[in-house]
Amino acid sequence: MNFDLTPEQDQLRDAVRSLGRRYGHRYFVAKAKAGEHTTELWREAGQLGYLGVNIPTEYGGGGGGITDLAIVCEELAATGCPLLLLVVSPAIAATVINRHGTEEQRKRHLPGLADGSQKIVFAITEPDAGSNFHRLATVARRDGGDWVLSGRKCYISGVDEAGHVLVVARTEDSSTGKLKPALFIVPTDAVGLTFSKLDMEIVSPENQFLLYLDDVRLPADALVGESLDAGLPALFAGLNPERITVAAMGAGTGRYAIERAAEYTATRAVWGGRTIGSHQGVAHPLAHAAVQVELARLMIQKAAALYDAGRDLEAGVSANMAKYAAGEAAALAVDTAVQALGGAGMTTEYGVATLLGAVRAGRIAPVSREMILNFVAQHLLGQDKSY
Ligand SMILES: Cc1cc2nc3c(=O)[nH]c(=O)nc-3n(C[C@H](O)[C@H](O)[C@H](O)COP(=O)(O)OP(=O)(O)OC[C@H]3O[C@@H](n4cnc5c(N)ncnc54)[C@H](O)[C@@H]3O)c2cc1C
Repeated sequence: MNFDLTPEQDQLRDAVRSLGRRYGHRYFVAKAKAGEHTTELWREAGQLGYLGVNIPTEYGGGGGGITDLAIVCEELAATGCPLLLLVVSPAIAATVINRHGTEEQRKRHLPGLADGSQKIVFAITEPDAGSNFHRLATVARRDGGDWVLSGRKCYISGVDEAGHVLVVARTEDSSTGKLKPALFIVPTDAVGLTFSKLDMEIVSPENQFLLYLDDVRLPADALVGESLDAGLPALFAGLNPERITVAAMGAGTGRYAIERAAEYTATRAVWGGRTIGSHQGVAHPLAHAAVQVELARLMIQKAAALYDAGRDLEAGVSANMAKYAAGEAAALAVDTAVQALGGAGMTTEYGVATLLGAVRAGRIAPVSREMILNFVAQHLLGQDKSY
């Protein structure tokens, strides 16, 4: 068993960390509060090749794997810049298009995703389906050579920043009459596509949207893959990268919060000359959170290694566990850090309470902790399904 990163991955980690530090959490929060995006950081990360680390070199990427992209996600988050769109654009959209798109779709979309000049966001969640993807009601029907999409999506991140949205819809299987999933690459300026911003209690420069598809007409080549049979595997292809990178973001956020708190508690003294960190009531919760974050990092490493080795089924179990562990660890770390900083923990200046909303959301999205526990209970513990 080897826990060492390759020299290139070590260099990537250091380089991403120094980029993130040049921007930092103050920049991230200032952008969020001004209603702006982290355009400069995204652009620079793209130019330096960090957004395309997992995209094959022939399409302008770095030719690495999800391990590399997880490093990018974790290190940016560890500097206080947890960029959710890394999870949807390079992790989900680029993987889906690379693994299941046509050659023409790869050539058209991957170079822009690799250098960060293009973003493709991901729309699966629906108001009346939620965690139950079997209830998706967005329908794609054929009209001559075109596709026509109708439906509604919710909580879709980054629609305002993206040129395209990867929409999960259903089509009628002509042989069985049953609906089956299909993915479509839809331009965000397509006629019939509208979106409105949701007010979320998360301090983030990235926003969530309601997305309305009213008879959106698309050419035949908007369908991901050569045929409708690509739909289900394409949908599953995005799930492991999504879980691994969102977990990495959580672990990085946890590290960031614990670091802020440890710096503070090692110098703050309110009882004579003793630092507050010398009190075990302050230090132990931080140490406990650090252990949880490190455990989550191990599971992320395992999931990413399995995924990059092409062992998708095993990676699925580990990716779910990593997502669960990192979601819980990040929420614990940020909450513990806030407590350790006392009143300072609730100020914007100290930059930890600003992450409370994001880590709380990390226990719900992209897959909730309960749905992961259901998965583990059914697939690993052999329990009956209750739903
Ligand atoms: C910040 C943020 C960003 C997001 N970005 C995107 C995006 O870019 N694209 C996208 O498509 N979606 C996105 N989502 C949506 C996200 O994936 C969903 O919120 C999530 O899948 C849960 O669905 P729901 O909110 O409808 O909850 P529901 O399905 O209504 O569930 C509500 C609660 O009930 C629990 N529950 C439901 N069913 C069961 C069960 N069988 N057993 C036990 N408990 C159960 C859930 O765990 C949850 O706690 C985002 C959400 C957030 C908060």
